Amino acid sequence: MTRKEKQADTAAVQSDDIVFACPHCGESLAVDRRAAGMEVTCPKCGGNITVPAADAQDAPVAGRTLKSIAFDPRDERIRELASALDAARSKIAELTESIEETNRRRVHLEELRVSHNRILENIRRETDAIRESLERIADILKATESGGEEHPPAARS
Ligand SMILES: [Zn+2]
Repeated sequence: MTRKEKQADTAAVQSDDIVFACPHCGESLAVDRRAAGMEVTCPKCGGNITVPAADAQDAPVAGRTLKSIAFDPRDERIRELASALDAARSKIAELTESIEETNRRRVHLEELRVSHNRILENIRRETDAIRESLERIADILKATESGGEEHPPAARS
């Protein structure tokens, strides 16, 4: 059954409909009981009306034609889903923001890591140079202690 057919089906006034007057134009309206508390649009003036509870409805005015408001119980479900969808969207926006913040931090940390690695690499190079110098000095000292029997090693360059 299409949505249109369903609305046409519910458009006729039912005996247990909630009957009330539009607060904007005074039109006598009837709507399915399940619409109690929901927002509907007045078919005459187009104003937004909150359907009163079934026990707060107006008594039908004698001789006045009731105008039925189409009600589709799926409308309520659609409203619930739309509201759940809105909540999900804002949660997604929140998570996206959080992921972006995490990425910004990750990039920052990565930059720090690269910078630290560069410093460590420099220290390693300097340490290697110092070690080589010390080894050369040790070789020279060894050659000197052995009374010149050996030639000091040629300077590395
Ligand atoms: Zn109205």
